[in-house]
Amino acid sequence: MKDRIQLTKGDITSVDVDAIVNAANNSLLGGGGVDGAIHRAAGSQLLAECRSLGGCDTGDAKITKGYRLKARNVIHTVGPVYRGGASGEARLLESCYRRSFEVAAENGLKSLAFPSISTGAYGYPIAEASQIALETCLAQLERFPQIEKVLLVVFSDSDLNVYRDTLKRLS
Ligand code: ADP
Repeated sequence: MKDRIQLTKGDITSVDVDAIVNAANNSLLGGGGVDGAIHRAAGSQLLAECRSLGGCDTGDAKITKGYRLKARNVIHTVGPVYRGGASGEARLLESCYRRSFEVAAENGLKSLAFPSISTGAYGYPIAEASQIALETCLAQLERFPQIEKVLLVVFSDSDLNVYRDTLKRLS
């Protein structure tokens, strides 16, 4: 399964895959961080489509078109705000990755790129979050053989090192 996972550092808005995943908020109406970057790059039609979706629960995922992005689609998922770890954060973060794969599979998509969900403004510690991200991606790749490639796109060298170390430790 590991051969279908790629770790890279960069701007997820320029990645050429069937869908990039957005770390959105419950309104799906845009925000800061990667969400703001995706809306800026995709253009105002993305916001217009998002308005029709009626928001999204934490841990769930919804798909739109990608508009001006290279990626054909955006899968919007809502990560948990980290409140110390005893408020169901791990289960909800796992659900973000799992639901994104399910939505991708339902739509016949073969390649996906994820940002590091919840580890920016939502405060999830990167070491724990990277373990959930990678374990869930490996499990979902086993479940969905039709998904050929998953990119995890981080935004700093230090985050890339954390993801690399975590992936090394997973079998
Ligand atoms: P959240 O609210 O889920 O924590 P953020 O957007 O604040 O989401 O941060 C999630 C991660 O996305 C952080 O590691 C942040 O550095 C990273 N990030 C911000 N902009 C981009 C981008 N253009 N491409 C990839 N990752 C990004």
